[in-house]
Amino acid sequence: MKILIVDDHPLALRLLTAQLHSLCFDDVLACSSGAQAVRVVEQDPGAFTLVVCDLQMPGMDGVEVLRHLARLKFTGAIILLSAEDERVLQAATLLGTAHGLFVLAGLQKPVAPQDLQRALDNPEWRDAPKRIAALQGADALRLALQRDEIVNVYQPKVDVRTGMVSGVETLVRWHHPTLGVLLPDQFISTAEEHGLIDALALRVLDRALDQAQDWRDSGLDLVVAVNVSMDNLSNLRFPDIVASEAKARGIAPAMIVLEVTETRIMRDPSTALDILARVKLKRFGLAVDHFGTGHSSLGQLRDFPFDELKIDRGFVHAAGHNTSSRAIFDASCRLAHDLRMTAVAEGVEDLEDWNLVRKSACDHAQGFFIAHPMEGDAIPDWAAGWRAPE
Ligand code: C2E
Ligand code: CA
Repeated sequence: MKILIVDDHPLALRLLTAQLHSLCFDDVLACSSGAQAVRVVEQDPGAFTLVVCDLQMPGMDGVEVLRHLARLKFTGAIILLSAEDERVLQAATLLGTAHGLFVLAGLQKPVAPQDLQRALDNPEWRDAPKRIAALQGADALRLALQRDEIVNVYQPKVDVRTGMVSGVETLVRWHHPTLGVLLPDQFISTAEEHGLIDALALRVLDRALDQAQDWRDSGLDLVVAVNVSMDNLSNLRFPDIVASEAKARGIAPAMIVLEVTETRIMRDPSTALDILARVKLKRFGLAVDHFGTGHSSLGQLRDFPFDELKIDRGFVHAAGHNTSSRAIFDASCRLAHDLRMTAVAEGVEDLEDWNLVRKSACDHAQGFFIAHPMEGDAIPDWAAGWRAPE
């Protein structure tokens, strides 16, 4: 397991090397500039499992290094370091992810040993090269659909005022035969790029509707949300397919919500508008997902008939400690209500987040504090045992 560290300060390099050694990572190569690091990776992009890179460097800075790593199709994990404002670190982390890189963590300098340890405790990074390589092949995903390796899990949503369970969101997983459970961020873009997103969406929808029927038979009537990528909204038959699948199971359209994310620039906005309008005419619910991030915009709210606004977890978790996040969160709730939509807070991770949401104008909440995503069969027991904390 080879680690490359990049920092222009010799002392920082020495400190980081010592910290890695104390965590039993002995194979560490130190580079004192971004340009040098890029040259090293260029020689063998597969040689390093992890790159730890400072953002603020003279000459080539960390953001440029990220761009080069993306160009070189670097498949290892990346930890970014910065003594700058926390938001710079966040922006660079998002940028790395947008480049298709696996950014394991963004850490403040000087690096606290426990922060480094926590980042490296995440078991995913050791497998990053294997995972990314596996995901580059669309054939593997096609086979996964045939072999039934694509399955759903469900995460509950609760009403903030009453504490009652208000629905579930369907989240897709790939049970890969050798790599274990893969998360959607690791294969949705492959599906989009290789024309497999429709097949994937229909599979997820089909299973979610079967599951909703099972829950209903056991006395649990739940609104079920399914994520759809804007790419599904280029297929004009989509609203009819959803309607006939729901009808076949006797499920009312109002019990199904489509959560829409714009994962890439819409190729054909008028087709998307046509589809969303017809989905709405058929009385299905429509939610705008990840509100507040680059994936959703005010223009979408103006143009599309959404009835639910899901505030991205970046503005919810720990918003109590971040006045900017808090202001955006509160403004998003107001905006939702002004547009006669309900507001849903994503990423309610701890009691502090829950208390903040309860004091706000937000209507529904979802997050690890309430429940982690789980198998469909586990939902009835969870719902029976759920009590909203006072
Ligand atoms: P999303 O729509 O924002 O879904 C919620 C994601 O946040 C889930 O990740 C969930 O596990 C995670 N999450 C929930 N509560 C918390 C929390 O308290 N803290 C944190 N840090 N995370 C939380 P997951 O399952 O990895 O899904 C990632 C994204 O992939 C989803 O984001 C959604 O946009 C997309 N996705 C999921 N299923 C599908 C699908 O069937 N089709 C498409 N096109 N996209 C999907
Ligand atoms: Ca969603």
